[in-house]
Amino acid sequence: MERSRETDAVQAGHFVDSRDGSIVPPLQMSTTFARDDSYEPIGDYVYGRYGSPTITHLEGLLARLDSGSSARVFASGMAALAAVLESVPTEGHVVAPDVMYHGGQDWLRRLHKLGRIDLTLFDSSDPEALASALRPSTTDLVWIETPVNPTWDVIDIRSAAEAAHDSGASLAVDATVTPVTTRPIELGADLTFHAATKAYNGHSDVSGGVLVTAADDGRWEEICLARDLGGAVLGPFEAWLLTRGLRTLHLRVERSSANAAAIAEHLSTHPGVHTVRYPGLPDDPGHDIAARQMDHGFGSMLSFQVNGGEEAARLVATSTEVFVAATSLGGVESLIEHRSTVEPKHSIVPTDLLRVSVGIEPVGELIADLEAALG
Ligand SMILES: *Cc1c(COP(=O)(O)O)cnc(C)c1O
Repeated sequence: MERSRETDAVQAGHFVDSRDGSIVPPLQMSTTFARDDSYEPIGDYVYGRYGSPTITHLEGLLARLDSGSSARVFASGMAALAAVLESVPTEGHVVAPDVMYHGGQDWLRRLHKLGRIDLTLFDSSDPEALASALRPSTTDLVWIETPVNPTWDVIDIRSAAEAAHDSGASLAVDATVTPVTTRPIELGADLTFHAATKAYNGHSDVSGGVLVTAADDGRWEEICLARDLGGAVLGPFEAWLLTRGLRTLHLRVERSSANAAAIAEHLSTHPGVHTVRYPGLPDDPGHDIAARQMDHGFGSMLSFQVNGGEEAARLVATSTEVFVAATSLGGVESLIEHRSTVEPKHSIVPTDLLRVSVGIEPVGELIADLEAALG
């Protein structure tokens, strides 16, 4: 019988230890690996920075979850992004959305300022904008995120992949916000990225980054080198915790997506709220594309804009009692954030916007909490 991705996640890669029958993959902390009498490595490993058993086990599972050929784990999401940018040639052209995870965009802008890369940002709300930002036979990398953080505009991955490939560029997709629900490699992407700090681990207690490649090509070789020599490998204990977090990934995503959908619907008729952005709402501008490229729900992230401007928004964010006022996303606990406070000055995020990461608490309590805070 063919095992599903979900079963593989639940069973941590269907692990059974042939020596003692343990069904939990072991935590191997060793940073060095012994050689035999002929001075050959006894197993597949030499030194921890290049990889070790707990890391390899996790990477096999991650490649499977995103339908890729190989995966690598990093010390954080940003370390994984930095490794991707190492694969871009000097002054190579990179295209990215104008609204995206601000840390990633800050890093792109910094490399651009230093002359290390050439950068074009395109309007994430305009479906034609990506194709016109490309320079045929020149653009090296297109980096997108979908839905984009925190307006949740949806970018069509299949057409982004076609446009990138027509120009000779690779497409990398940040799927942090849509684990499970969107598998970019199946839609033509070359690389899938996850900040495993978020939903992949799911418990707000591990920092990690994941890259999955469609093919073990030249760019992937550069990325692996950047990790092995740059040294930003995930620690074995974090890898072990992440493997454990993945066991409930599908369950968490389904529950938090269902909660988010109910909250979005509730807020969309609330007199204190003028705009709700959630791709699951039938009248959301990105709904049709989202319905095509997402399954298992529309994700756990939504934003809403309150009447009364910035002051009113900040008051809501400081008045909730179940939602915790904190940044980050994808954990089991619900978080609320006044986003423009944490974004850089050049950010185009509206000042009356609140971003929520919906967790797995009972949805009635979450809605009542927002009701009270908006009141
Ligand atoms: C958090 C986040 C990142 C960065 O991940 P870190 O683990 O914090 O380095 C990148 N992209 C998105 C969408 C994120 O939410």
